[in-house]
Order: sequence, then structure tokens, then C-alpha cells
Amino acid sequence: MYYLDHCGTTPLDPDVSHFMKDLIDANIFGNPSASHHEAGRHAFDMIENARETCERLFNAKNSQVLFTSSATEANNIILAGFASRYKNRTCRILYSAIEHKSVLETCQSLNEWAGVSTIEIPVFPNGRLDLDFLESELMKDNSVPTLVTIMHINNELPIRNPVEQISTLCLKYNAFFHSDGVQGYVREPLNFNENLFGSYTISSHKIYGPKGLGILVLGSGPLSPRLLPYMHGGDQEFGLRPGTLNTLAIAAGAKAIEIHEKKRVDRIKHMHDCAHLFSNYLKNHLKSFHLTIPIDQQAAGIVNFYIENQDSQSLLLKIPRVCINRGASCLGAGGERYSHVPRALGLPIEIQANILRASFGDGIKLEDIEKASQLVVEHSKK
Ligand code: PLP
Repeated sequence: MYYLDHCGTTPLDPDVSHFMKDLIDANIFGNPSASHHEAGRHAFDMIENARETCERLFNAKNSQVLFTSSATEANNIILAGFASRYKNRTCRILYSAIEHKSVLETCQSLNEWAGVSTIEIPVFPNGRLDLDFLESELMKDNSVPTLVTIMHINNELPIRNPVEQISTLCLKYNAFFHSDGVQGYVREPLNFNENLFGSYTISSHKIYGPKGLGILVLGSGPLSPRLLPYMHGGDQEFGLRPGTLNTLAIAAGAKAIEIHEKKRVDRIKHMHDCAHLFSNYLKNHLKSFHLTIPIDQQAAGIVNFYIENQDSQSLLLKIPRVCINRGASCLGAGGERYSHVPRALGLPIEIQANILRASFGDGIKLEDIEKASQLVVEHSKK
């Protein structure tokens, strides 16, 4: 198997895998909320150690680090939490047209709430955010509580958003700034002391940790959204995320973060080299190959492309050993045909339908890229 879908998910790092096996054997089964007895305290200590690791590595001592069941849930906690807090005074949420569905669809559904209006910020055909549009919206009425939610690095396109400029605009116009950092944290360290992000979301399974764990960092400065809980039924995670915590995933997720901090530079180089090798091979062997937008070093390891007159779905069925995606994995979950991302770029419908995304990481060796590329070329010609 040739695994080229690292934006979808990543395999467990071998050290995380060993760590998890040992932890299962250690049988730390107590409920971390029951810290008044010994079984609960063991679990509680593991969670708090994991939290301290995150606070230290993200320079987030003055922030809240929350564990959630996914980055999707973390994004919902911020967006619906902000809307819950301000809807009675009317509030606005500005989001980009190429957000992950956990942000895009949440914003679209919050638009139905009385008192909440959401505004989509368009992107140019090259995927770049229309910053002038964002500023003109921010300028309109800066007395209305406003949350800007723009992802750090896109999960379908090799695009890094200008988060430094966005946070400057947010500070200027008195807006909060949340960033979905799921793909950003894969590629860049997070320093929460810099006043760059108000809140930030990470997903453990994109950095070779277990699935089912999101990490939400919520600051307390001017960019940090003020929230009300939108889920109820428990006081866990500062009252913002009720429900018993997944001790195993949280401890292993913190381990994955520690390992990722050490390996990130090498991982980025590998992702970058693989993406270039793959793209160059296809370009040299397949006249009908086109990159949707050029490969970008800042958003390493993502190749978004199409092959003229090639139905992407049937191509993928012909080469099941090459794991490539048609866009984000959450598309597959709903059985949808097209991603909203190529649509936002203004690509013709026949291209939108046949976009492919290859994304690279530890799950594929550099020497296997040529074999995987060969299979794509061979089956595209059939
Ligand atoms: N945001 C981005 C940019 C992603 O790539 C993903 C996963 O595909 C998510 C959010 C959702 O993460 P999770 O699977 O942890 O819900």
C-alpha cells in the first residue's frame, strides 16, 4: 500500500504506539473526575501531566488548554460558544470560503440563530484570502462583537493564510480571532505568548497520535473569544466540554505532541521532498496533469491536482493500493461529490468534480513515491 493521505489522517508514531500499549497494560481505568479516590487520581494526574506538557510546549501558561473528542468538536465549542454568549446583543462571525467543514458548516448553521450573522470571506483563484474584503467587513461596525475564524494552513490546498496580518486587523478593529490550526500545527510550532491567535485548534491524529482527541488552546487576551458553554451535563474542561475524558488518548496525544516537536523539521522536509517528487513525476509523464495551485513550501506536503478528462472516482477505484483522496476525508463521510474548496477557487464544474489531493508524511518512504506515481500515471492512461 502507498499511503498518500496524511491530511486525512496519519499512522501512529511507533513510540506513541508503544506508549499506548504500556498504558493499556498499566490499566489506569479510573474516572479522572473522581480525583477524591486513588483510581480516579491516577487518571487525573495523567490528564494534568498531559495538560502541563501542552502548556509548556505551546507557551500557554496563561491560557486554558482543553481536551475534546476531536478538532471538529473544539471548533464547535468556540463558534457555538461565542454565538451563545453574544447572540442576545447581536454578533458576527467572519469565516473564509475554504475553511474545513467543521468551521464552514458550523458557521452556516449558526447563521440561522437569531442575533447571529455570519459572513463568508472569499478567496482569489490562487487560494489567497481577500484581505481587503475582510477589512471592509471588520470596518463596518466594530461595536458589534465579532469573531474572525480563519484557518492557519488549509487541508486541501497548499495555502498558508496570512495569520499575522489577520490578527493585526482583528486587534485594530476589536475582533476576536480563532484559528483552526489542525494543519498549521503539523507544520509550525505554536507560541501562544505572541498574541497572534486568540484560540487555536489541534487534532492529535494529524500528528501521528491517536484519533478522537482534539486540543483547544484558549487565551485570555484581547483576541480570545469570550464563550458560554454550548454543551451541558458536566463541569469537565473548565465547564466548556462536559463528558468523561479519554485518559488514554489524552496521555498518548501529549506524547505525540512531544515527539512532533522534535521531529517536525525532518517531517516537513520529507513532506516537501515527497510532494515535489510526486508532482514532477506526474508532470513529466502525463501531459494532462495539472496542479490546481502551485506547491508551496509554507504548506508543505499537499499536492492538489486534476487530470484532464479523468474521472477521479473511477481512477481511485482502479488503484486502491494508492491511497489518495478527492478532497477532505469528511467529504467521504457524507458521500458528497464535490468539495467546496475548488468551488471557492472558481474552477469549472467538470474540474471541481475531479480534483485529487495527495498529501505526504511518515506513512510513505521517499523511495516509494516513484512507484506510487507510476501507478497513477499507468491507470490514468488506461
Ligand atoms: N480542521 C482541519 C483543517 C482538518 O484537516 C481536520 C481533519 O480533517 C479537522 C479540522 C477535523 O479534525 P478531527 O478529525 O479531529 O475532527
